[in-house]
Amino acid sequence: MTDWKVPLSDIDLGAAEIEAVTEVINRRWLTMGPKTEEFEQEFAHHHHAKHAVAVSSCTAALHLSYLALGLSPGDEVIMPSITFVATANAAVVCGATPIFADILSEDEPTIDPDHVESLITSRSRAIVVVHYGGYSSRMKEIMRVAEKHSLSVLEDCAHAPGVRYDDRHLGTLGATGCFSFFSNKNLSTGEGGMVTTQDDEIAEHVRSLRSHGMTSGTWKRHNERPQDYDVSEAGWNYRIDEIRAAMGLVQLAKLERANARRAELVARYRNRLNGIEEVRVAFDKYVGESAFHILPLVARDRATRLEIVVALTEARVQTSHHYSPVHLFQLYREQFGYKSGMLPRTESFASRQVTLPLYPGMKDDDVDFVTEVILDELQGKAGRSSRVGTAP
Ligand SMILES: *Cc1c(COP(=O)(O)O)cnc(C)c1O
Repeated sequence: MTDWKVPLSDIDLGAAEIEAVTEVINRRWLTMGPKTEEFEQEFAHHHHAKHAVAVSSCTAALHLSYLALGLSPGDEVIMPSITFVATANAAVVCGATPIFADILSEDEPTIDPDHVESLITSRSRAIVVVHYGGYSSRMKEIMRVAEKHSLSVLEDCAHAPGVRYDDRHLGTLGATGCFSFFSNKNLSTGEGGMVTTQDDEIAEHVRSLRSHGMTSGTWKRHNERPQDYDVSEAGWNYRIDEIRAAMGLVQLAKLERANARRAELVARYRNRLNGIEEVRVAFDKYVGESAFHILPLVARDRATRLEIVVALTEARVQTSHHYSPVHLFQLYREQFGYKSGMLPRTESFASRQVTLPLYPGMKDDDVDFVTEVILDELQGKAGRSSRVGTAP
């Protein structure tokens, strides 16, 4: 593994998580039980959600949400292509057809509600929004389009835990919200996920499908009089376990402060890069809360992007790319006939986007170092004239 001077992200785990996990091990009940219930209740409370159902990943959360919405072969699901492939894959395994809508702009790379509406057909069943980078999609417009055409909305909240939107939270506006606790996410348990919903039936259905479609869980059978269970439909084992739930509780308690620290770092990045015409930080004019999951930089052109990536890598700063557009992956080209050129704004954004380091433990000096490398590289080529603003 490369020894990065500034890594892309870093987990914030310490004594509290170790203590919580040790307690579970000492209590000797490992699979889904009381800690998981506590985690679900706390998570629901924190997001003002009626229900929260913990699962093994966000991919599982998406899959179970699609099933709970009744997605079946032939159905179309409209979603952005700027997302992690799981958003689309989980619909494909249900036999559905992903219909990709373009993003609004390079400054607001979330799904374009007008383009969504233009893609609706008699086969459309659902609209999926991805709150990219932790920034809300245009939920008011999306909900209006969905209501008008009687479609369900599903929120991929993998980047957006703990984000208020008006008097609600992201994840409680659509039929379900799907959260990820993968290692590099804002709230991390290694692997894990959560489905939030305001709908009692969906919650019950997801709970059942999470554990083989069984009518009673292991913990219940362990504690109550021996009883038989019934199986109402074929489900999966998408359960989380007590060790992860215990970590999740500690991480949830840290979330607000961690997101606030991310906000400070993003403000510093914006300030340092302000006025540099070759690059811009996305969501420049965004109003509202964000979980600031990643720092998406957009270069003027493909060559400038490459130049920045090379300079940062040489300076041992780790970068990433969010994302390779899903519609251009082989599966999506071959099975669904997508081609490059179909989503111009998405493709242009993806060809110029680079993700810079961002994590709560990052130091102000780290931001200064990263931005200096970028400024030196751009100025080395173009001269000082390209620098309009002066960083404090
Ligand atoms: C990480 C991620 C997922 C998948 O989450 P897992 O918990 O790894 O399954 C889905 N959608 C988006 C946008 C993601 O970033």
